[in-house]
Amino acid sequence: MDDFPTYPSGLRLAGRRVVVVGGGHVAQRRVPQLIAAGAQVHVVAPEATPAIEGLVGSGELTWHQRGFEDGDLDDTWYCIAATNLPTVNERISRAAEARRVFCVRADDATHATAWTPATGRHDGVTVAVLSNREPQRSASIRDAVVEQLREGVLSARRGRDRTPGVVLVGGGPGEPELITVAGRKALMDADVVVADRLAPRELLGDLPADVELVDVAKLPRGRSAQQEEINRVIVERALAGKRVVRFKGGDNFVFGRGYEEVLACREAGVPVTVIPGLTSPVSVPAVAGIPVTHRGVAHEFTVISGHLPPGHPESLTEWAAVAQLRGTLVLMMAVQNAPAIADALVAGGRDAGTPVGVVCDGTMPGERTVLSTLGTLAGDLAAERVKPPAIILVGDVVAVAHPERFGDRAAGSSGGDGA
Ligand code: SAH
Repeated sequence: MDDFPTYPSGLRLAGRRVVVVGGGHVAQRRVPQLIAAGAQVHVVAPEATPAIEGLVGSGELTWHQRGFEDGDLDDTWYCIAATNLPTVNERISRAAEARRVFCVRADDATHATAWTPATGRHDGVTVAVLSNREPQRSASIRDAVVEQLREGVLSARRGRDRTPGVVLVGGGPGEPELITVAGRKALMDADVVVADRLAPRELLGDLPADVELVDVAKLPRGRSAQQEEINRVIVERALAGKRVVRFKGGDNFVFGRGYEEVLACREAGVPVTVIPGLTSPVSVPAVAGIPVTHRGVAHEFTVISGHLPPGHPESLTEWAAVAQLRGTLVLMMAVQNAPAIADALVAGGRDAGTPVGVVCDGTMPGERTVLSTLGTLAGDLAAERVKPPAIILVGDVVAVAHPERFGDRAAGSSGGDGA
């Protein structure tokens, strides 16, 4: 008929009418599984094997003791043509086709609309194997898989990397699909996952039940005490032979204290590897539709932590120099200090009309963007009740993305701030 592969599907037949035509050994083999699936099984056949008759006696199926009639397939979901007469099977097949009922044929698979896989079950998992009309092959593959499941040789967790050590995994900005393939695999291989507040939480729901989850958000407060405790936990678990994933939002080395953990591991002689993540200063604007660079508009983007206000004795940022930059500024952890930062930038020479885009809860269900300017930022943040986490973008790229608000400010491609 055609060479397309079959499309596998698990039919949910509970309470649904299924018709088996024929009462011989093929029917006898199929009927128990249909009953187990909760189907309303109707056998149509002038004669039936004693086993089928027994099921009639116990009320598990209905036997129509006669030949097949097309109307048997009315209101039917699924059908098995299992008589020993090809012409009858052909008639059943046609009646099924006319009613759009999928129909298995015992005698001629090439003309059937459905094939029965070789199936087996183990521990809540159904194994179903279909080959290209080689039932023996399907059955032996099924047997091999089920046997290995029983013996524990095969399991979803088998073949994983169990080398003791610590893996720093960046989870991306929040949306669970934005983790890397390597990061996801490392999570699935872990014995212990030490997760941050900003780490994509939904991914933790997929962890195998036997993984130990250490939630850093629940550790005692205080920044440095907390970090010491994290270092202690990851080192201790790794020394006990566990594979530990240190799971953070974004990338572990971007304001994530990741390298402190690398050093702690090295000091303790614990092997440590790094799987980078999509960092929020780049990925959050991207998903919100704001490019961090744009030809003719920004030839640089600068990522700065705003957790300390300008002029703070511990600040490592030269805000007066930053104010001289013409490209895009990406401010992180800066919601609280944004008014002071905006003031410092304007005082240092950046135009008060410079567009600002604040992306809150980027890539997450509550994502929103608040548009403002350097001169009006303090008032806008308060009025819009902006709370962390947020990425604050400063520069004409915001106008490129939002011409409806900023007009043709970026269209001149001067790259300057207008002043
Ligand atoms: N290691 C992380 C950053 C940690 S610092 C990374 O690489 O992305 C925490 C700051 O990141 C927040 O204060 C905020 O500025 C920013 N951030 C992280 N995820 C964010 C998100 N989904 N939306 C907006 N800002 C986010």
